Amino acid sequence: MVEVEWQRLKAQELRNLADQDAVVILPVASIEQHGPHLPTMVDTRLGHEVAVRAARKAYPTRPVVVTPVVWAGLSEHHMPFGGTLTVSHATFHAVLRDLVDSITRHGFHDIVISNSHGGNMTAMQHFCEEMSPRLDATLVAVTYPAEAADEIGKILEDQENLSHACEAETSMMMAVEGELVDTSDLAALNNADGAGAGFLGAGKAAYRWRPYTQTTSHGATGMPGRSSADKGERLFEAAAEAIAAMILDADTWAAPVDQRGSGAGGVPFRR
Ligand SMILES: [Zn+2]
Repeated sequence: MVEVEWQRLKAQELRNLADQDAVVILPVASIEQHGPHLPTMVDTRLGHEVAVRAARKAYPTRPVVVTPVVWAGLSEHHMPFGGTLTVSHATFHAVLRDLVDSITRHGFHDIVISNSHGGNMTAMQHFCEEMSPRLDATLVAVTYPAEAADEIGKILEDQENLSHACEAETSMMMAVEGELVDTSDLAALNNADGAGAGFLGAGKAAYRWRPYTQTTSHGATGMPGRSSADKGERLFEAAAEAIAAMILDADTWAAPVDQRGSGAGGVPFRR
């Protein structure tokens, strides 16, 4: 099987990949509580697995290399349940900035920030918005449950999409780290009211920050009792397929269109 993990490759192999204009996937995740039945590494482990599988799927068409997962994410909302390590927006931004700088200095131009943790989504997009006009590289930020939402919805029986320590995440952990999943009483963790959506809401469309204790008594949401390793394997394949398709879509990396007519003026155009 082709080697796609940055840390398992030698320096000259990575120089060759830069010469081939390989895509770099930089996974970002979290270490945080995932209910009484799952270890804290869930988002880090799943994010790694999705990225590596996506890279292998895309590789025959275009080489892809996956860096180690940035496990330090934004998880303040999970702190009350314990077991959680969290960083601030400023730290998250600084780590991504320095890693993207390292990657681009080697000559890579196309970078996917591949996220597996809901709490990182706004920070990741903010990073892209601020850095993209300053880089000789294209940044694309993706969160796999959103990119593969249609396919994931078809596989899950009791949830519309992935939630937290739920039918989906429990199934995926069963598929790759089965001995770390406590399956003794998963049915007791089911949340009949669904995935706990809306715990960050107010009014009709307003935002209000709250801790995760707002939405669950034990740290999991959704329906963990409906999990299986077979379902997890299918979820990995669906997620990896969606990320690979996005990477291989020429529009993902195409230069932005500049529709200004000649003489329209303005300032120099950046990516
Ligand atoms: Zn998770």
